[in-house]
Amino acid sequence: MPATATGPLVNGGISFWVQDAGRPAPRDPLPGAVDADVAIVGGGLTGLWTAYYLKKARPGWKIVVIEREFAGFGASGRNGGWMSAEPAGQFRRYAASRGADAARALQTEMFGAVRESVEVARQEGFGESVAENGLIHVATSKPQLSRARAHLRAMRQQGWGDEDASELSADEVGSRVAVEGALGGYATPHCARVHPAKYTFGLAAAVERLGVTIYEQTRATAIEPYRVTTDRGTVTARIVVRALEGYTLSLPGLARKLLPMNSSMVVTTPLTPEQRDAVGWRGGELVGDMAHSFSYMQITADDRVAIGGRGVPYNFHSGFDRNGRTAEFAVDLIRARLAELFPALEGIELEQTWSGVLGVPRDWCAAVNYDPESGMASAGGYTGHGLSGTNLAARTLRDLILGEDTPLARLPWVGRTARNWEVEPLRWFGATALYAAYRYADRREYAADDGKTSVVATIADTISGR
Ligand SMILES: Cc1cc2nc3c(=O)[nH]c(=O)nc-3n(C[C@H](O)[C@H](O)[C@H](O)COP(=O)(O)OP(=O)(O)OC[C@H]3O[C@@H](n4cnc5c(N)ncnc54)[C@H](O)[C@@H]3O)c2cc1C
Repeated sequence: MPATATGPLVNGGISFWVQDAGRPAPRDPLPGAVDADVAIVGGGLTGLWTAYYLKKARPGWKIVVIEREFAGFGASGRNGGWMSAEPAGQFRRYAASRGADAARALQTEMFGAVRESVEVARQEGFGESVAENGLIHVATSKPQLSRARAHLRAMRQQGWGDEDASELSADEVGSRVAVEGALGGYATPHCARVHPAKYTFGLAAAVERLGVTIYEQTRATAIEPYRVTTDRGTVTARIVVRALEGYTLSLPGLARKLLPMNSSMVVTTPLTPEQRDAVGWRGGELVGDMAHSFSYMQITADDRVAIGGRGVPYNFHSGFDRNGRTAEFAVDLIRARLAELFPALEGIELEQTWSGVLGVPRDWCAAVNYDPESGMASAGGYTGHGLSGTNLAARTLRDLILGEDTPLARLPWVGRTARNWEVEPLRWFGATALYAAYRYADRREYAADDGKTSVVATIADTISGR
């Protein structure tokens, strides 16, 4: 797929981040039957953080991580690099099940999770993969501005103080980043910009230094109490942790538990000095729009724009290309959005596009679970907020597994269960119609520009439970 007259666009290849960081030497597969105290299935941030905190707390335990490809192959090595304090799930749902104070406690812990994720990276020697630059949400129509203000008001009830998030005028947005047609927005300092592959590879190395063994190229085919069956042998363990997020469907009986939602990204070539001046963005903040079909962006350490969205959010029967090949339709949507937001970058060469899957539960809320009877544990369903969410979930799992009655063990995502997703073709139809409705609603809102959120988006939110 040619990007411009001058260069081919790499489509897939896992992610630009993995290509840029360079893959570490492959780790050995499981050598056959192995005994351990803890077997963690999935070598993304959930699995790695869980190994990290458990091994720190119990240095004598034998902890192994089972990874189908390589640590960082999944969403953890492909994401948009927003390490934000936005909770993985909805305040109103956590409040409905466990009370507003518990939901606010989760928010407070999310602020801490961003700090902790940055601090550990620095202590463990991969701090160069993260920069604390904050986050700006930009509204480019009156309805988006109304939503930004309403969202900020709601955040005040959810534990965000004046110093945690503040409204920006059009001029204030403009002085930070030159988004075309910006009418205002809001900013928060609670967000770090991450190079996802460097970060995840750095954490995997730190986990290994602690004495955890990561077995790569080893596919779990079934998990059950005290046992993980793989294509390379069986691991017996007192505790088995499922940390597969968007790949949960790869295990028998879990096909409808978490919907593997595609998110797609595109990265440009490095900006010329003129383009760099034109976009401003000197603070390196993460930037998101307020459209229903949300776009997320970062300016990389080497001055590229990486932008993502959900053009083709779901494929029939939960299918996806493992290496991240992206549908042309999704690339075209992202390219068009980039040009709308930054006309100065119109025609810029795109270097790579890729996709990954994140795990979405039916109630759109993350869950952290441990059953001491069976020794089975799991964490996931961060709905696109997993970068800091994985850190908090892992510390929560540690406390649950160690049987410690801490504030983390009482967070409202502990012990949650959501019902399964609908069977096909309902699942495909629902997800596809939902995002088509959001795109339609965005177009209507730009056309009407009367400050009102499109009724189509409101209906879509109600039907989807988002
Ligand atoms: C394109 C994209 C952009 C995103 N942007 C952001 C963002 O900006 N901010 C944010 O907070 N979140 C973002 N997310 C979500 C975030 O990346 C995830 O929530 C987070 O990385 C989940 O980590 P995980 O360890 O639970 O899952 P993963 O990182 O997906 O790890 C699961 C691992 O399990 C392995 N595996 C799969 N099947 C098996 C098996 N049968 N046996 C053994 N191993 C197996 C996979 O190879 C994979 O390495 C984004 C996600 C995507 C895809």
